Amino acid sequence: WGGALFGVQEYLIMMMVAAVATASRDGRTICMTDGIHIGLAGLLFFCFCHMFGFYFGGVSRSLPVRICTFDRNEEGTYYAIDLGGTNFRVLRVEVGAGSVVTSRKVELPIPEELTKGTIEELFNFVATALKDFVESEDGNDEQRALGFTFSFPVRQTSVSSGSLIRWTKGFSIENAVGTDVAQCLNEALARSGLNVRVTALVNDTVGTLALRHYNDEDTVAAVIIGAGTNACYIERTDAIIKCQGLLTNSGGMVVNMEWGNFWSSHLPRTAYDISLDDETQNRNDQGFEKMISGIYLGEIARLVLHRMALESDVFGDAADNLATPFTLSTPLLAAIREDDSPDLSEVRRILQEHLKIPDTPLKTRRLVVKVCDIVTRRAARLAAAGIVGILKKLGRDGSGVALSGRTRGQPRRTVVAIEGGMYQEYTVFREYLDEALVEILGEEVARTVALKVTEDGSGMGAALLAAVYSSNRQQGSI
Ligand code: BGC
Ligand code: MG
Repeated sequence: WGGALFGVQEYLIMMMVAAVATASRDGRTICMTDGIHIGLAGLLFFCFCHMFGFYFGGVSRSLPVRICTFDRNEEGTYYAIDLGGTNFRVLRVEVGAGSVVTSRKVELPIPEELTKGTIEELFNFVATALKDFVESEDGNDEQRALGFTFSFPVRQTSVSSGSLIRWTKGFSIENAVGTDVAQCLNEALARSGLNVRVTALVNDTVGTLALRHYNDEDTVAAVIIGAGTNACYIERTDAIIKCQGLLTNSGGMVVNMEWGNFWSSHLPRTAYDISLDDETQNRNDQGFEKMISGIYLGEIARLVLHRMALESDVFGDAADNLATPFTLSTPLLAAIREDDSPDLSEVRRILQEHLKIPDTPLKTRRLVVKVCDIVTRRAARLAAAGIVGILKKLGRDGSGVALSGRTRGQPRRTVVAIEGGMYQEYTVFREYLDEALVEILGEEVARTVALKVTEDGSGMGAALLAAVYSSNRQQGSI
């Protein structure tokens, strides 16, 4: 399996890791490689089933928001709040003359305790940040619509309302599940004395798609790979089972896939994935996300290194130092993988300072780099498989509809908006993802697919949607 997918070299490395990591070689260690192979094939198939609504609840839970109705007359100044990653952002966005620009932005880390307290505390913090933001400019909040990007699974009940299905990414505020998050925020805004109310409640994928689609109509999907991961895409309304009979027009609808919660027995987990899952607040949820996104990758690598330390002497007697969860963050994993100094001095520094492993021989540092590489590569390839799943569903993977385009000599251009630190800031991850797309789609088709980094797309897109729905309310009805 490993040989077929990774090429002989990686297979040998994996065997080497397995040999070092497991005395008994029970096969589970190499499973990380096997998992990807089955994952690629399985994911493509299951994404396909999933999108027909056969498979799991994510699709049918979120009511899709129609966005293909820009009339390009939207104009004015709008606010956006972007909540859902490690940082929280407030933006002021100018919409006009067919363009959308951020005129001001403030970014704040979310205090850890607020992610586990009450929803009132979290939203008071958000409302106060917006209030400070408004007051530090002209103080005039009248008439300004607010786009609220809330990047968690939501059962959308209208363009400006929706209830939280469950928390992800380490958040766990119990009194919020099942409540209307837009209404909660509106109450906090009222408490803070602000006159602004939520006009559009959107997922970050949807905001990103909206912004990119506004600027480029070939955009058919948006993918986030940051702290968490997810994707959305534009589906034909008549292909959405839950919309049948609800809507008469046959335009496009945006489907928020919540692919982070994708799971299938065809996507087998390694022992490390299981250990990681056990450490999280949302056990048994977000299985795909936990193999791909920024909150988790460093921890997977730490779990591998810890087991190596327990079952071999590569780290001397430093096994205990590797026992603390989440001491290897994903930015550190990236720095390890991207250290190109001949003696891997950055790797040595990280091992010493962050993992308290005293000086390691070069051979061991190389092994650590390889572990980080394998974890990164698996994540990037799984994300690529998910993207191909969407393209396949849309007939843009080189088969079906797209092929007929090609035979006419006019390959159809496909744009996928992409946002999030994993793709934007981790070069090796980006390269592996791009490489896997070419590998799965073939060079000719891959040339027609452009992944476009859409910086701040989630917040700006939410402001744009607030502009659309405040300038023409009936378009907002869904
Ligand atoms: C959430 C999604 C979100 C994604 C990226 C996931 O954990 O469930 O709603 O789009 O993270 O931020
Ligand atoms: Mg984000």
